[in-house]
Amino acid sequence: MADLDATRGAGPTPPDALRAAEHGSGAFDDRHPPRADLVSDCVHCGFCLTTCPTYVLWGEEMDSPRGRIHLIAQGLEGEPLSESMVSHFDRCLGCMACVSACPSGVRYDRLIEDTRAQVERRHPRDTRDRALRAAIFAVFPYPRRLRLLRGPLWAYRKSGLRALLRRTGLLDRLAPTLATLDSLAPRVRGVPRPPRRVAARGPRRAVVGMLTGCVQSAFFPDVNSATVRVLAAEGCEVLIPSGQGCCGALSVHNGRRAEAEGFARRLIDTFEQTGMDRFVVNAAGCGSSLKEYGELLADDPVYASRAAAFAAKVRDLAELLAELGPVAERHPLPVTVAYHDACHLGHAQGIRAQPRALLRGIPGLELREIAEAEICCGSAGVWNVLNPGPAAELGDRKAAAVLDTGASLLVTANPGCLMQVAAAVRRRGGEIALAHTAQVLDASLRNLGLAALTDRPA
Ligand code: SF4
Ligand code: SF4
Repeated sequence: MADLDATRGAGPTPPDALRAAEHGSGAFDDRHPPRADLVSDCVHCGFCLTTCPTYVLWGEEMDSPRGRIHLIAQGLEGEPLSESMVSHFDRCLGCMACVSACPSGVRYDRLIEDTRAQVERRHPRDTRDRALRAAIFAVFPYPRRLRLLRGPLWAYRKSGLRALLRRTGLLDRLAPTLATLDSLAPRVRGVPRPPRRVAARGPRRAVVGMLTGCVQSAFFPDVNSATVRVLAAEGCEVLIPSGQGCCGALSVHNGRRAEAEGFARRLIDTFEQTGMDRFVVNAAGCGSSLKEYGELLADDPVYASRAAAFAAKVRDLAELLAELGPVAERHPLPVTVAYHDACHLGHAQGIRAQPRALLRGIPGLELREIAEAEICCGSAGVWNVLNPGPAAELGDRKAAAVLDTGASLLVTANPGCLMQVAAAVRRRGGEIALAHTAQVLDASLRNLGLAALTDRPA
């Protein structure tokens, strides 16, 4: 394993790295290698270390942002893409806590995304890893396929098989990945799909296209319904064309760039002619990728400018509502709320104040902060499925911090976080209700009272 000590305080990476990158030597070829100029922005100060979940877990330099940047520099200088190097890249959650913490503005997000695409194209994975990744990406980015899982999941629970496997611990011993999927699976809720167009209530203030998402539409359809109602109540006409598919976030975050580009083109085609002013997203991971469509399709002569124009319209739900300002009446909700910053909302999009302001705008709602808010809950797209052990450790740490707040409701804006924290709370035998920001606002706007939120236990 490479040692970073010699590089600490050594200043910018030498021009060798630039030259090697230009010629595609070492770990990376010349198709979007990680940029040497971005690597050289890192001054090795280490301010990012304590916010990095893998460094917090293992205290290993090469599992820190600084260490991974050093490995990228080595790759650019001619080191081959070794098994060890790949394992340190794979262990990165892509949470971007390091980007928030870095005083030098290092674009680690760009570096790891480009590195991952190289790893996926150039590094042969072992059979088990290949099969697992193939299975994940044959299902997760396809809302229809995910919806098909709801029936068997319901039967699995109803039959008592799930309870039996949990009691005996058999699944944990034989198939930890399946056990993780089982622990994450949310309760299946049957909610009708929203119509393709919903009119604004009162004077129309904006026309917004809405992403229904993959996991969100299959397992949290009530979050989408709440989002539509909140938008309409705040004066938005909402457009929800069918056949929109995946936004490509999961693919791009896992180095599957070509697949992500295909999803992005399809989504642009679906929404481009709708006449929308804004494109609204209620899942943090999707929002951060959608805002980068311009960069994703920059090499495509047909889509480059269309992708940039599309990305400029993308807003997270809380961001859009803050921009518009409230018009609908808020009814009281006397509840203590712990708000969890999803990494791809807080770190990747810098959206922290808007959801808190929306929640504080509800009469009777008390907001409590979670300790170590900057540390990821361990969900990170499919990272928790690929790395069940450390993901559970991070989940347990987050669940403890959430329960310490004494709040009765946990609110966040990402389906992955909801599933991850819910599973960890259940493991600890704790109790807290869970909701998306949209559901809290919806309950207040419709004057549904607290029961509408607190009957959603983790
Ligand atoms: S993205 Fe997260 S896990 Fe990866 S290096 Fe940065 S802080 Fe660590
Ligand atoms: S905080 Fe920024 S500059 Fe300092 S080590 Fe981390 S990535 Fe490098």
